[in-house]
Amino acid sequence: MAKALKYETVKEFIFWSYANLAMAHTAVERNQEKYGTFNYIIRAKLYKGLKDETMNMRTIFDDEKIKLQTGQICNYCGSKEKLALDHIFPQKMGGKDDAENLVFACRSCNSSKGKKCLMEWMNFNGEFLPLMIIRRYLKLVFQYCKENGLLDKRIDELKSLELPFKVEFIPTKYPKPKELKLHSNQKLI
Ligand SMILES: [Zn+2]
Repeated sequence: MAKALKYETVKEFIFWSYANLAMAHTAVERNQEKYGTFNYIIRAKLYKGLKDETMNMRTIFDDEKIKLQTGQICNYCGSKEKLALDHIFPQKMGGKDDAENLVFACRSCNSSKGKKCLMEWMNFNGEFLPLMIIRRYLKLVFQYCKENGLLDKRIDELKSLELPFKVEFIPTKYPKPKELKLHSNQKLI
């Protein structure tokens, strides 16, 4: 099936990543073994909706509910030990000191992550983080690009810039649903 590249601009890339995340989310929520037609439809509809602005990045999810579920645990690994607040986008790189950018993380994750951007760290670990934290990350990327006039740039134009995220590590492909979790305190099926 020869298809044209699905995205060209930074905005389209973020939306495509987000649509794939939502697809993975629906499959995990329904305890599916693998992706099926229903999930692909969700992805296609959301991607189209985001591009033509009939949907936004909150569509499908309920933020308030999510806050209640995460509580005081490491948002990366689920540990309840030695928690501290972690800036998802490092402050040195322009990350804000606000609720959107702050999550609880355990000391072990914190030191392992070090100065790496979150997706770079995930890539380094070779294991996917909970979908909800990736979702938060994508929202931060979108917000940052919006505030800095980057949304309509081409993706390769970002590679030469100093940014609090590395575009090449942002996932557009997700593992099978049974290998993914929504939250860090969720057990794998
Ligand atoms: Zn942890």
